[in-house]
Amino acid sequence: MKEQKEIALNIVKTLRKAGFEALWAGGCVRDLLMRKEPHDIDIATSAHPETIERIFPKTIPVGKQFGVILVEEEGGMFEVATFRTEGEYRDGRRPESVTFANPERDALRRDFTVNALFYDPIEKKIMDFVDGERDVWAKVIRAVGSPYARFEEDKLRILRAVRFAANLDFTIEPETWRAVRELAHKIHQVSQERLREELMKIFTRPNAGKGLLLLDESGLLQEILPEISAMKGVEQSPEYHPEGDVFIHTKLLLDKLEKPDPVLAFSALLHDVGKPRAVTRDERGVHFYEHEKIGAVMSQEMLRRLRFSNKEIDEVSACVANHMKFAHVREMREGKLKRFMASPTFSTEMELHRIDCLSSHGKLDNYHFLQKKISEIPEEDLKPKPLVSGHDLIKIGFKSGPEMGKILTALYDAQLEGTITTYDEALEWAKKNKNKSDSH
Ligand code: ATP
Ligand code: MG
Repeated sequence: MKEQKEIALNIVKTLRKAGFEALWAGGCVRDLLMRKEPHDIDIATSAHPETIERIFPKTIPVGKQFGVILVEEEGGMFEVATFRTEGEYRDGRRPESVTFANPERDALRRDFTVNALFYDPIEKKIMDFVDGERDVWAKVIRAVGSPYARFEEDKLRILRAVRFAANLDFTIEPETWRAVRELAHKIHQVSQERLREELMKIFTRPNAGKGLLLLDESGLLQEILPEISAMKGVEQSPEYHPEGDVFIHTKLLLDKLEKPDPVLAFSALLHDVGKPRAVTRDERGVHFYEHEKIGAVMSQEMLRRLRFSNKEIDEVSACVANHMKFAHVREMREGKLKRFMASPTFSTEMELHRIDCLSSHGKLDNYHFLQKKISEIPEEDLKPKPLVSGHDLIKIGFKSGPEMGKILTALYDAQLEGTITTYDEALEWAKKNKNKSDSH
């Protein structure tokens, strides 16, 4: 595929040829100024939605009533939106109506000055109605106009202020920050889906640790992730955790993420979320018995609340549930170890374990032990086809149910360990153990 910049330039040229104004708009201009590759290039134009649909052969009317059309050109998707100004906000989230307007009015409806820039890719000139370029250089997130008014209109912007400050490693201008903190409790007017999208961008992009601190200091964490807020001040044994409490430990993990997928990022965030509920103290110190089990259940609840996909929920909760097993890998029997290593989330769990260690005692013995195992065991040894199936057992008189499940698991462990190597041996073993359980 052609570079997105080239395609986006061609879209502007096409619109200009048809007699319309067209510019690159919003976050991509900020990223280009900062010499970063934009996630996507959005185009703003004086052409109305029907016209955009007429000019480009492949379009999707994603937000036609707001003037937003997706244009597919040369394999890429681009948002082409009519310059607009927004009517009154009634639900704290979306305007009642929009009116098509000029670039200046369009800049004034945007959330932050650094997100309100336009760029003419033909003349190679920035158009800046809000002193956004100054704020890019000063690395400042500042609301366009009155932060209180802008946040009251759309409560999502409160969270976006924190998101951009973290992603870009900017500071939040004092007046904007005051409004964030005062209005944080109103974030509940935003849907869980939109919260998830912004949280995803906080925790999977650079400076996730800073994002966590800003969520906390803004008051947003207490509102949207109170279970994470509860980790603050939960002290741990200085022997295993010289770095400090559960919250600080988690922040350190987030700092170590490098282009994580969502499952790793949220596993890092949630791996110790069960600790505040599990904590007990006795003369020997502080303990968190079964915190990984409690945490796995809590993770499921929290991610379900945020409308994550079932697959993501299952994978994160598996990572949380398994993260303490790494302490015992060197005592595990071969079969159990292989089964552990064959889990579909194992590579994510390995990375979680690595950053978990580096964010506390710093010892990587178990990690290195497993790395060596990975290099020694061929893939087909790790996940061989089971020697016998449930069907085979039914043929020799088993009834399907939990008992048969146990036999199948034990057989597979024995196969992984190499104590049973053929179909006949496996059936023999099953028969023997069936008789045993019958005589009980
Ligand atoms: P990135 O794509 O890197 O996450 P972005 O700046 O492109 O960052 P988007 O969420 O893609 O952010 O939004 C595109 C642009 O639309 C923003 O730069 C901003 O100008 C405008 N915008 C998006 N959401 C809002 C909002 N809730 N209120 C006001 N303007 C918004
Ligand atoms: Mg964008």
